[in-house]
Amino acid sequence: MLYYRTLGIVLKSQNHQEADRTYTVYTEKYGKIKVLVKGARKINSKLAGHLEPFNLIDLTVVKGRAWDKIINVSTVESFSHLKRNFRKIIYGSYILEIVDNLIKEHHQDKEVFKLLKKTLNNLQIAKQSFCQIIDYFVLRLLCFLGYEPNLSFCVFCKKKKVILSKNKFVFISWKFGGLLCSQCKKFDQNSSIISEENVRKIKEMLTENLIPENHDQSLTKITNSFLKYHLEKELESEKFIFGF
Ligand SMILES: [Zn+2]
Repeated sequence: MLYYRTLGIVLKSQNHQEADRTYTVYTEKYGKIKVLVKGARKINSKLAGHLEPFNLIDLTVVKGRAWDKIINVSTVESFSHLKRNFRKIIYGSYILEIVDNLIKEHHQDKEVFKLLKKTLNNLQIAKQSFCQIIDYFVLRLLCFLGYEPNLSFCVFCKKKKVILSKNKFVFISWKFGGLLCSQCKKFDQNSSIISEENVRKIKEMLTENLIPENHDQSLTKITNSFLKYHLEKELESEKFIFGF
């Protein structure tokens, strides 16, 4: 196949040689791709204007030996309301950076594409509750990537109703991929305490597709530790996020 056409969301761009630019795009049909636009840094570049980060684009790419090149592109949705709000740009950049860092090139998953598009849209229309949008996005994305936590019983001793322990608290271990009862907590010193309420909220996000109405700092902390465990690095936009 010499040419391909797909929808995609622009994650980032980087200068390349004197006049060109490379773009990282999460596409509907081919997953994350890196493509080149010749002359993108020239003032009269017709393609570059469509390739701002966040843009949902319809692109046609021609395969090349060193680089695949974009030969045609149009903007389907520019998320202009998002781009006009500084806080939304910060949260949106965090989302793009997570996708870029967590997903390998050519990992194709239509559900990830749909989630990314929906999340940018949620952020665009949101008046507040940006943190819940991020929590929801992180949890769903990690599940699509195969890291869904087991929230039904202790992953070590398989004890059910672990959540009904005396003090109503259990632990969650990303290393073992689920809940740990207080007796088994010792097997992962990095496990975090999690309330019954937060276990319920996570279940709702995963099974009923519901974004929580109110922000809960402890839930954001948990989803963030989940993300960190799988990312193994700091993100650029992260330092701006948790200052708000
Ligand atoms: Zn146990």
